[in-house]
Amino acid sequence: MSVPAASGRVLATLNEDGSRRWIRPKPASGRWLIRRRAVAYALIALFLAIPHLRLGGKPWILLDLPHREFTFFGTTFLPTDTLPLMLLFVSSLIGIFLLTALFGRVWCGWACPQTVWMEFIFRPIERLVEGGWNASRVLDRDRRWFAPRRVLKVAIYAVIAAILGNTFLAYFVGTDALRGWVLQSPFEHPTPFVVMAVTTLLVFLDFAWFREQTCLVACPYGRWQSALLDRQSVIVAYDAGRGEPRGRGAGARPGLGDCVDCNACVNTCPTGIDIRDGLQMECIHCTQCADACDDIMAKVGKPAGLIRYSSQAALAGQPPRILRARTVLYPLAFTLVFGAFVLSLATRSPADITLLGGLGAPFTRDAAGQVVNQVRIKVANRTREDRTYTIAFLDEPGAQFIAPENPVRVGAGRTVTTTVFVVEPGDRFREGERAVRFRVSDGDSFTREFAWRLIGPRAEAR
Ligand code: SF4
Ligand code: SF4
Repeated sequence: MSVPAASGRVLATLNEDGSRRWIRPKPASGRWLIRRRAVAYALIALFLAIPHLRLGGKPWILLDLPHREFTFFGTTFLPTDTLPLMLLFVSSLIGIFLLTALFGRVWCGWACPQTVWMEFIFRPIERLVEGGWNASRVLDRDRRWFAPRRVLKVAIYAVIAAILGNTFLAYFVGTDALRGWVLQSPFEHPTPFVVMAVTTLLVFLDFAWFREQTCLVACPYGRWQSALLDRQSVIVAYDAGRGEPRGRGAGARPGLGDCVDCNACVNTCPTGIDIRDGLQMECIHCTQCADACDDIMAKVGKPAGLIRYSSQAALAGQPPRILRARTVLYPLAFTLVFGAFVLSLATRSPADITLLGGLGAPFTRDAAGQVVNQVRIKVANRTREDRTYTIAFLDEPGAQFIAPENPVRVGAGRTVTTTVFVVEPGDRFREGERAVRFRVSDGDSFTREFAWRLIGPRAEAR
């Protein structure tokens, strides 16, 4: 069954017959590009460097998912740190809301890794290898997907994707583990190798094939913006009041606005839209159209800024309003939540102790028939120095306490699980269990007692 063609273009990245329209933006140089390029290369350098940087012996950032430990700038959050982690997450979210309410999608245009790597690494390589933006369009038009220049570009992309994929993985496994994986045969560590290969493949597909679709269909942030922006938010916008009615020969022909309808803003747009259609979800506020238009305005002798940072209210002639519901409530909420995060960090216990039952049977018997309870004690040292923890069993005489590793030495920010045993006669248990207490102390700032229930037989109770 044939599908009827659309009467016009439905999406900027779709042709009218429904096939993919490849976006090959024409580069536009200008004042914004110079600034964005400086920011982009600084961010790329930072992204590549962070896994190698250490603070107090720890990586700047390490998201250790298997152990559920997250390190940010020397502070490690353990699985028990749900509250500070949640507060940090919520305050970041409020921060993004505030940033968007004030400056629109400044994150998308200036700092998002998708934009930064696409526009300042992958697209420049494409233009360099394929012979320029127009040469790429010719290859598309002629459907020369396997032209030698295109194959070379794909090979270079694959190498960069491998670097990027490995760096991305280093944020989750650390550079030491990653170095080991890279230097060993894949057969020695098949699972990490598959993780590394899949990450590299996803990065490659994202930048070689999916590209701007990530912003348009995969990223939820673009869809949130209609709720996050207001009419006073700063956005990249076309001044329709000055530009319309558009037309070639503007300036020479009376009655026309400043827009000469040259399409330079459309040709340079990395998401393929026309900013003159108004605020659109596809606009990542990258300022490329502003640079392109400024260049045209200079050529036709008009002032720059037909496309510029402005707001919907300013373009409608309304005065700017800094104080509005969002710009008051978001900072207030941010201060409260981030303050609670700082407080929870400041008042965090210097150690986190978890008592766990023994593995296997609830209790065992020794050679003399006495009941043996195994208790695992997990000690998380949250301080920045190595600490030694002494475990004591607080109970009436008669019970034998065996702790093969006592005191326990735990490195800064590390977690160690040790096993202790309590041995006593079976007739001391009432209803098959007995309440006892343990004390764990580092001899300095941390001493705490913990209740526990030992398990024993019911039948021997007196
Ligand atoms: S319309 Fe302009 S600011 Fe928006 S994505 Fe396109 S080039 Fe960037
Ligand atoms: S680049 Fe400027 S002058 Fe050219 S079409 Fe776009 S808005 Fe009009």
